Amino acid sequence: MTEPLEALRKYVHDLRERDGVKEVRLSRAAQQGLARLAAAIKAFPDSAPDAKTPSPEPARNSVPVKEQSSPPRKPVTHLVTPSVIDGPPLEITGSTKAEQLKHLAERASVCMKCPHLATRRHNVVFGVGNPDAKLMFVGEAPGEEEDLKGEPFVGRAGQLLTKMIIAMGLTREQVYIGNIVKCRPDMPQGVPGNRKPTKQEMETCVPYLRAQIEVIKPTAMVALGATAVEGLIGPVGTIGSLRGKFMEYRGVPLMPTYHPSYLLRNQSNTEKRKVWEDLLKVMERLEMPISEKQRGFFLAK
Ligand code: URA
Repeated sequence: MTEPLEALRKYVHDLRERDGVKEVRLSRAAQQGLARLAAAIKAFPDSAPDAKTPSPEPARNSVPVKEQSSPPRKPVTHLVTPSVIDGPPLEITGSTKAEQLKHLAERASVCMKCPHLATRRHNVVFGVGNPDAKLMFVGEAPGEEEDLKGEPFVGRAGQLLTKMIIAMGLTREQVYIGNIVKCRPDMPQGVPGNRKPTKQEMETCVPYLRAQIEVIKPTAMVALGATAVEGLIGPVGTIGSLRGKFMEYRGVPLMPTYHPSYLLRNQSNTEKRKVWEDLLKVMERLEMPISEKQRGFFLAK
């Protein structure tokens, strides 16, 4: 498995050639990251695409799927459709959805395609939830707490998302939660907070999310914030103008709404109600029961 190491080698090479850097000091986190990478490479030597068995090149934007004609109990391999902006599709292996997600997560765990993020991450935040989920939430990228825990949406915004899921009559275990970018976008040393992932980081990472969607095949998805819409569909508008109207992502209804962190900054019932109305539409689309009490949440008394 040479892909991550080759990416790191190229990154260091570029630093030397382009910026004249002669010495690279690795933080403790980076050293630990490399140690984890080395262990993972040892554990999953075949998790990168093998040059000897190239994937067939599917037509751009064609509908999936290539299935191996293998005996029933053998793992199925198929390809996720590439979009206009991303590279080759990720191979999906495994005979159950859980297995397929596990293999993708293992591959992501050693990904070095963004060396500046990979060397500073504590965890790849792949995604969490039910492989058979009917509903999938898509966020932007992990923040500090998610990076430390390895789970999406566990910080303040995540706790609010969990409340929203519970208000819908669901649990985090029943839905699936993922992000456009799986590594925490790095911040300059000593600068607190989080940043939006760059276009390049999104384009590089989004094949993992596409593969997750391809495996899970949710009935509906919710895009939390403009970055989630941008990662899936492109820069098609402000979240204020997009929210509340279903879009479509490869045949899956996609409801754009505000990111929970927006609601943390704007705690008025008017803004909460907007998000709640978007979620009511999703519940209707999923043919979920909706009580009168639920219909009335965040309405002025
Ligand atoms: N914000 C996101 O978009 N994703 C997370 O996982 C956490 C915060």
